[in-house]
Amino acid sequence: MHIVPIPCLFDNYSYLVYSDLSSDALVIDPGEVHPVFLEVEKRGLNLVAVLCTHHHKDHIGGVEELLEQLPNLEVFAYYTEEKRIPCVTGLVADLDNITVAGFSIEILYTPGHTRGSICYRIDDNLFTGDTVFGGGVGRVFEGTPEELYESIYRKIRPLPDKTRIYHGHQYTLQNLSFAQMVEPDNDAIHHRIERIKADLYDQNVPSTIGVEKLTNPFFRCHKSSVSRYIRQVVDNNQTLTPEKVFTVLRTLRNSFRQQ
Ligand SMILES: [Zn+2]
Repeated sequence: MHIVPIPCLFDNYSYLVYSDLSSDALVIDPGEVHPVFLEVEKRGLNLVAVLCTHHHKDHIGGVEELLEQLPNLEVFAYYTEEKRIPCVTGLVADLDNITVAGFSIEILYTPGHTRGSICYRIDDNLFTGDTVFGGGVGRVFEGTPEELYESIYRKIRPLPDKTRIYHGHQYTLQNLSFAQMVEPDNDAIHHRIERIKADLYDQNVPSTIGVEKLTNPFFRCHKSSVSRYIRQVVDNNQTLTPEKVFTVLRTLRNSFRQQ
């Protein structure tokens, strides 16, 4: 199985997925058309499907133009998003399994960033869109931080540590600066920053669940080192559940600017 990260727009990633068994390929979140076609043509592939993680323009901006060139393309999205994502042919729901381009793909419904956000899991590879990033999680645009917490803690974090995470944006360095502010004594964060500074685009995807558990504060809300930081900014008498820690972290991250 081959997974090709394709930088799109300013800091987005699309992903081209194919195997050695067939020339059929699928693309996840084509924010724009040109870089996707370049990779498809370079490899002599036959693009058969688009998987959309959510409706934001920087993730689906290329869908209509792809369809003009390839009218038989299948387009998958969460079933509530039919009106917000153009030309959807396949509506999916939580824990569905679909077979596309020869791959068996599991759908994980992970609301929080948007109401209709999903992740696609192919073997030990997870495509998270804007739900999880390297060292962080997406902004809460629709729904609540509690929903995003549920998505992370009930759906994504329990996956095997070796699960590779292919995320939708290049925000890792800024996320890790925030993580370092929260946990200044966490050596794993420090080492990860050093590693990715060397090569932002190539060394940074994929991440893994194991790496996020060590370095991403939103995966570490039950740790005393994270709640200790949150204690400094909330009323000391409040009970700090992991969910509450997550919610405060998400609010703090909104106004955080890298030094
Ligand atoms: Zn988004």
